[in-house]
Amino acid sequence: MPSTFSNYINGEWVSGAATFENRNPANVDELVGTFAKGTAQDIEEATKAAAAALPAWSAMSGPARGNILFKAADILDRKFEQVAADMTREEGKTLPEAKGEVRRSINIFRYFAGEGSRMPGMLVPSERDRVHMFALRKPIGVVGLVTPWNFPSAIPAWKMAPALICGNTIVVKPASAAPLSAWRIVEALAEAGAPKGVVNFVAGSGGELGQALVNAAPLRAISFTGSCEIGNWLHGEASKRRLRIQLEMGGKNPTIVLADADFGSAVENVVNAAFFSTGQKCTATSRAIVEDAIYDRFVAAVVERTKKLKVGDGMQPGIDIGPCVDKGQMETVLRYVEIGRKECGAPKCGGNRITGGAFDKGYFVEPTVFADVKEDHTIAQEEIFGPVLAIMRASNFEDAMRIANNIPFGLSSSIQTTNLSRTFEYIYRAEAGLLTVNLPSAGVEYQLPFGGSKDSSFGPKEQGPAALEFYSDYKTVYLKY
Ligand code: NAP
Repeated sequence: MPSTFSNYINGEWVSGAATFENRNPANVDELVGTFAKGTAQDIEEATKAAAAALPAWSAMSGPARGNILFKAADILDRKFEQVAADMTREEGKTLPEAKGEVRRSINIFRYFAGEGSRMPGMLVPSERDRVHMFALRKPIGVVGLVTPWNFPSAIPAWKMAPALICGNTIVVKPASAAPLSAWRIVEALAEAGAPKGVVNFVAGSGGELGQALVNAAPLRAISFTGSCEIGNWLHGEASKRRLRIQLEMGGKNPTIVLADADFGSAVENVVNAAFFSTGQKCTATSRAIVEDAIYDRFVAAVVERTKKLKVGDGMQPGIDIGPCVDKGQMETVLRYVEIGRKECGAPKCGGNRITGGAFDKGYFVEPTVFADVKEDHTIAQEEIFGPVLAIMRASNFEDAMRIANNIPFGLSSSIQTTNLSRTFEYIYRAEAGLLTVNLPSAGVEYQLPFGGSKDSSFGPKEQGPAALEFYSDYKTVYLKY
């Protein structure tokens, strides 16, 4: 049953004057929920509430904060099936993918809850007699968290959990296309006993709320994941106030396939990374760079495998690929497909919106493979963020490395090879923050740093122990005894 979801400000559920709809991209007749449309005033109140809650929350012991995070994880776990189904209905990814993401959010909360009992500082010997010197971690203050729709639970989780465990108070602004998954985490934190004002949630238009957030006097930092366009704008605004900022943005991720690779698993890994979650993972492979010796065979095998993928409503069993998240995203994908047709001829498979019967009610696009794509083609340079794979020919390993690195982005990158020295060559020379070897380029865990390089990212990494670097500061103490 569709419900109305309020914003959460200063420990109260607040319904606004205006609302917006969250509809299922697999069937737009289905209303997933109606959300309160937050205003600049809501952001102001949320940041003030967060500032008021900061002294008590940051004074609480790390393990006590951790207990609240553990409880929130347990609450999400109890509601696991519902939270996962909500995600499929609002974002379109398949139910098994949604379950995997909710499990990851729960694990993220438990991981950072434990960090409350560690919170490593520094203790080093002084050059001076009877001087004790050490550095403590302290919170940075009120933090704004702005998140995208493609991992509508895991990304809010991997920002909220480390921010809170470090003793910060937060204002979360989820993506309008998929706000419910983040709302579920806020609900869990409220139920777990997060004191009023510690966690605030304001959904609504990014343009309006983003400006209000970046202008809000109590704000000390912003963590943003989303497009380069918005991230770069936010960076400019935040810099005017010297706010601490962390940006995770777009990619154009390569998978290099060498002739010595395990052919079958290389095909599977490329197809998985290119098309699962409808190609809407920031770490998805959008360029397969294939060594000449196996190029034709590889293209044929990828096309054959891609044609077998089942597209449909992600709630149905046996579906591999759901819809694009909304009409705008579908139109962007189809626009790039047309550009691809002009640049390198008809796709080897796919290339169309899927219509007829129930498909008419959703934003479904056939998984699409272009071959013989050249480095300077638009579809080899610009992020499409949909089920479109560009296959490119490389004469050898050196050529493949050059093509892989020849883009402004540097988020994730992958190689398929059985050659150990090539593997290490690749690891040292690949210009990306996340690398995989003989795995799909997408599919990260939470225990290690996450983030890109070059134009994809700015600031400290997220997740793993590295997350503490953004969400805390050091206080250095020299003590004579
Ligand atoms: P987006 O359009 O940039 O939106 C991201 C978030 O920013 C949304 O909450 C959006 O709100 C908000 N926003 C919009 N305008 C804003 C403004 N002026 N000030 C502040 N916030 C504003 O990105 P998206 O379409 O949701 O996500 C897709 C993009 O995210 C892709 O480029 C993808 O590569 C990237 N991504 C990167 C990573 C990574 O880790 N590097 C991970 C996931 C996704 P509204 O929804 O209300 O517009």
